[in-house]
Amino acid sequence: MSSVFFVARGVCDRLCERLKCIISYAIKKRSEILVAFLKHSDIIDLMALFLISVILSSITLEYNNKSYEIESKGIDGFTYYNLKDVKKAIGFEVSEESASERFILKYKEKKAIFIPDNQWAVFDSTVVNSPIPPKLKNDKLWLPLPLLNKLFLHFLKLQVRQEGKKLVTREAIHTIKKIVIDPGHGGKDPGAVGLKKFYEKTAALAISKLVAELLEQELGITCILTRDKDVFIPLRKRALIANRAKADLFLSIHCNAHRSREKHGTEVYFLSPAKTTWARAVEARENASIKWETKEQRGEIESILWDLAQAQFLKEANNLAGKLVNSISKSVNTKNRGVKQANFYVLRGAYMPACLLEIEFISNPKGEKNLRSKKFQQKVAQGVLQGVREFKEWYEKSLNY
Ligand SMILES: [Zn+2]
Repeated sequence: MSSVFFVARGVCDRLCERLKCIISYAIKKRSEILVAFLKHSDIIDLMALFLISVILSSITLEYNNKSYEIESKGIDGFTYYNLKDVKKAIGFEVSEESASERFILKYKEKKAIFIPDNQWAVFDSTVVNSPIPPKLKNDKLWLPLPLLNKLFLHFLKLQVRQEGKKLVTREAIHTIKKIVIDPGHGGKDPGAVGLKKFYEKTAALAISKLVAELLEQELGITCILTRDKDVFIPLRKRALIANRAKADLFLSIHCNAHRSREKHGTEVYFLSPAKTTWARAVEARENASIKWETKEQRGEIESILWDLAQAQFLKEANNLAGKLVNSISKSVNTKNRGVKQANFYVLRGAYMPACLLEIEFISNPKGEKNLRSKKFQQKVAQGVLQGVREFKEWYEKSLNY
């Protein structure tokens, strides 16, 4: 991606600006791009359009010290990869049973079966559910990243992750070793404020420190805090810290708020377009941190391809959120408000399963008092520990099936 911008910048600055704008638009609208831009086509738009078609339709797979061009396609809001190109890289056999519409892949002694539009895939004798099914388009079979990852795991014992415009393979992680814990807000951004003026940023930091300590102590997991003091960190940078650390999980710790002082309980979110009015309201409040960022920091939020990063971890993030909300609400004896989905800026761009935890309502007087109490904070940390422990077992089992 950066190399394309570099070329574009060499042509002219205006083209570069136009390109950035069109790509953001293309990511949002996908299929409508051609129609939309041919309507007001000037030479700049056409040049940008040409570059986009190059950028959006191919991706590089790095495997076995070689690079392979893989055709990719946006279908139903997810990125899919052309199986034929993957076949060229790995060298498995593919046969198509037209009667049953099954695609049978064979590699050495191993077998995988995919059926277009079917959530169930078979890897030898194991049946795996993929929330994003394979698709048949233009007589080609297209796989989404979660299935591509399963295929690599099964055939090669490798994990494949998308990092920008690259598919990177690495040794399969059979355990969770590193977690980035992100205390929400900080510095000039206080987050939500309780009636007695207790700040969300203060509660988030205290809880995060306890969580990190417990996870290291009890599970031997290395924990990295995005901040260990009262400083402001832009939203985008938080996920970057996790990516750079090559963390296995990302947990962003927050407190909830509502104009009704009655609301109470714990909820845990994973990234997805906000589904309910409630989730949208929480999303808007947490994303409002962006108002504290400089224009430059904010510009990065619009950075393209962000929404795609978490798509590959939907299943894991959903599972992690479920385990966390159950164990935290049980440990601190709060109302379990369940798993929710929203489009949080802070989770976008993290290349690992990521959740945002709304521990308790700081707007509720009792909640505020609890959040301030060390005993309550410790119980929250115990809850997070239990949730991570259960997730870790499930995750490792699913990777080593
Ligand atoms: Zn918050």
